[in-house]
Amino acid sequence: MDFAVLSVDRHRMKTDGKGITTLVALAGCPLKCPFCINKEWLAAEEKIKRRSVNELVEELAIDHCYFLYTGGGVTFGGGEPLLHSNQIAKFSEVCPPEWSINIETSLNVPPEQLQPVLTERFSYIIDCKAMQADIYMRYTGTEIGQMLHNLQQIVRKIPQERYVVKVPLIPEYSTGEDVEESIKCLRELGVPKDNIVTFKYRTF
Ligand code: SF4
Repeated sequence: MDFAVLSVDRHRMKTDGKGITTLVALAGCPLKCPFCINKEWLAAEEKIKRRSVNELVEELAIDHCYFLYTGGGVTFGGGEPLLHSNQIAKFSEVCPPEWSINIETSLNVPPEQLQPVLTERFSYIIDCKAMQADIYMRYTGTEIGQMLHNLQQIVRKIPQERYVVKVPLIPEYSTGEDVEESIKCLRELGVPKDNIVTFKYRTF
């Protein structure tokens, strides 16, 4: 049950979680976003490094003091880190309890892949892309259903201080009005106003 790691990026501040964090990018993603900044990289098999859970904990422990003093820890991104949810759950059992563990996800995985990490031990940074099925399909090439189901599970089971939902303005795919409509849908699903963040994708 190894991790498929694309990169490890240390000493990040305020970009993906509280305190000082290390971003671990994991391989694989079910979506096909045209503006993905990692597209080529995600496809590059030769860049994948295999790490056992214990090896990854040991490697990241070099920053243990930074994590401890700043309330930081590890952020699993990608790619889609929930494809590795069993490994992340195991990681949480092995790493020091003081480390925060953030999961940066689009949530579009089968619900059983969310289950192992659907506890208060984890914090979530969710990019919902769009709440409209047609825009979602056009941008990601994927149905929206799983994402909506998993988002409902997060709202029900994860304390509100432990998740944020990002709604992007996607040039050529969504408008300001679409973003407003997505925010309305999220509010109706029970996502608190302060947990919703908007931003604009860069298209390069
Ligand atoms: S969900 Fe993220 S990693 Fe996956 S294709 Fe879209 S932008 Fe890229």
